[in-house]
Amino acid sequence: MPERLLSGIKPTGNIHIGNYFGAMRQFLELQDQYESFLFIADLHALNQIHNPEELADNIREIAKAYLAIGLDPDKVTLFQQSRVPAHTQLTWIFNSITSMGLLERAHAYKDALANERSVNVGLFDYPVLMAADILLYHPKVVPVGNDQQQHVEIAVDIAQRFHHLYGPTFTIPQPLIRSEVAVVPGLDGRKMSKSYHNVIGLFDTPEATVKKVMAITTDSKGLSEPKDPETCTIFALHKLFSTDQIEELRERYRSGSITYKESKERLAERINAFLQPIRERKAELDSQPEYIERVLAEGSAKASEMAEKTLREVMERVGLSASHHG
Ligand code: AMP
Repeated sequence: MPERLLSGIKPTGNIHIGNYFGAMRQFLELQDQYESFLFIADLHALNQIHNPEELADNIREIAKAYLAIGLDPDKVTLFQQSRVPAHTQLTWIFNSITSMGLLERAHAYKDALANERSVNVGLFDYPVLMAADILLYHPKVVPVGNDQQQHVEIAVDIAQRFHHLYGPTFTIPQPLIRSEVAVVPGLDGRKMSKSYHNVIGLFDTPEATVKKVMAITTDSKGLSEPKDPETCTIFALHKLFSTDQIEELRERYRSGSITYKESKERLAERINAFLQPIRERKAELDSQPEYIERVLAEGSAKASEMAEKTLREVMERVGLSASHHG
């Protein structure tokens, strides 16, 4: 049996090239090597999105994104988290053995507090739901961007706590993070993130992409001044889209023979060429809602079967199953 892989994406809006290079590209590269379970993390998105039409629409967009990048539903199990009730059931059991302190150390929660955003219980408890998401399927690896590393570590902590109390039950997972693209920067140089409004969307139009790339923030170095490639956001994105020309670009930055404008124009062209086939497949999928529904229904049924099996074992171990009442 090949080893198992699991990962998910939150349907919170415009899916972007940070998601692609941080996580999705690995799903694609690994679909033949691992038995993959990939899900739409809609219960996590519910924390942020309280408009039902918007959430439903975002869920379909992620399903289409998975298919448009080239994942094959005959090879990978694509499913919707909320269609597998075991995720929420296991979350409650994990809540009952997880200390507040463990969750108070989570970066996502600390960031929210620091930015004085109101924090609901769902955001605080996010890592516990994520632990359930992972541990239900016994994956060996969890391909994610750098920002999710701590959450995978918390899942490991929760699994170990459970094992300490009730005996070995779960596979201990490892995050799979590609160091060269650990964090994809956004238009303003901060991490590319929907919540910072600095993203280049996979499904943006070519024109919108050009406009966004031309608006990337740079320092104020003059046209023919030498420029530092390693601190330049445009260059960081060239590393993803212009690998075959990266040495030439680096040299021209250092010698001052490229302007930021030219660098941006080349980048926009590269991004649009790369995204064109993905956008074309997405346009085809837009006219196939029944197909999308079938993929999600079949994937969710398959995921449920495995998740239910793990949940039954957990219920047994903690003393909640019918066999304890006989
Ligand atoms: P999310 O949208 O938070 O569900 O993220 C989906 C996946 O994309 C996760 O594995 C993240 O780690 C990854 N990801 C999101 N933003 C970035 C980024 N700017 N750079 C690298 N990976 C990212």
